[in-house]
Amino acid sequence: MGEFTKMYAVSNGLDFEEVERAEQRLKGVAHRTPVLQSSTLNAWLGAEVFFKCENFQRVGAFKFRGGYNAVARLTPEQRARGVITYSSGNMAQAVALAARMQGVHATIVMPADAPQAKKAATQGYGATIVEYDRQLDDRDSLTRQLAAEQGLYFIPPFGDEGIIAGQGTAAKELFDDVGTLDQLYVPIGGGGLLSGSLLSAKALSPACQVFGVEPELGNDAQQSLRQGQLVRIATPQTIADGAQTQSLSTTTFNIITQNVTDIVTVNDQQLLNMLRFFAERMKMVVEPTGCLAAAAAVQAAEQIRGKRVGVMVSGGNLDSVQLCKYLALGQALQCQPDTV
Ligand SMILES: *Cc1c(COP(=O)(O)O)cnc(C)c1O
Repeated sequence: MGEFTKMYAVSNGLDFEEVERAEQRLKGVAHRTPVLQSSTLNAWLGAEVFFKCENFQRVGAFKFRGGYNAVARLTPEQRARGVITYSSGNMAQAVALAARMQGVHATIVMPADAPQAKKAATQGYGATIVEYDRQLDDRDSLTRQLAAEQGLYFIPPFGDEGIIAGQGTAAKELFDDVGTLDQLYVPIGGGGLLSGSLLSAKALSPACQVFGVEPELGNDAQQSLRQGQLVRIATPQTIADGAQTQSLSTTTFNIITQNVTDIVTVNDQQLLNMLRFFAERMKMVVEPTGCLAAAAAVQAAEQIRGKRVGVMVSGGNLDSVQLCKYLALGQALQCQPDTV
């Protein structure tokens, strides 16, 4: 751990101690989510798979961890001025709730066509919503401009150190609960969850191979890793809406490319099959993006045999109409006999 910590102290100013500090701030605030196993799946795969179930986190996704930590690290002056960030999905609600809990006003820049339920939930937490046009506006510059005009503190949704350290507490809890692992699978959107998980894995289970997982049609991080530079793609078409990001941030790109074992992809049908498995076998609702890591572990069945494998189940935000539609489209997993 010593060597790793030093490396980060130099290259990113972000180390595992920042994750430990985040964990202290989140005590009694974030849920310590359960680590679940499916004996059926373990038997099929001949592996021990540990699911870290962040679908049971506050606001339905791990993002509450980073959002709360980012707000908690601000100075009293920054808090008094208020915060701003942009998000189309789970981060909006996470920052809105985290800010309200800490008496800080939040402004969230959201696409005008974001689901009504997500806008309503964000507003319900007391945040001010500013809408932008996905086709016409550059949300990053719009957010920075509003921040400058109104004196708000900008929390970059993927590059902020407080966000990354907060997201890293989920993997820390997993290692604290189950001990070292052979492999860990983590979904990638902007790369905050994977970056934080890498910090925790290197410190607590240094031999663990860590894999990032992207939708097949949205593999910007995989391309970035292969090319050694930040690749930006058009907004990908996938049901994994939490991974519809166009690129990593510079910070997450650096942490990921320096530390990840590899980045793999799965397609939408594999996500649907996994979603159905979670519902039928494990009695839980997991959104498509939350199925990425599990689908990759199942896809790697040959490589994980005999291994101890961690899987980040990152979120469970789905309305009932979407849930019904997706359940109808999911097929039995390939390792899953038709009749059990
Ligand atoms: C945001 C999100 C992700 C991706 O996390 P990043 O930190 O952006 O890489 C994965 N799953 C869910 C459910 C999310 O909401």
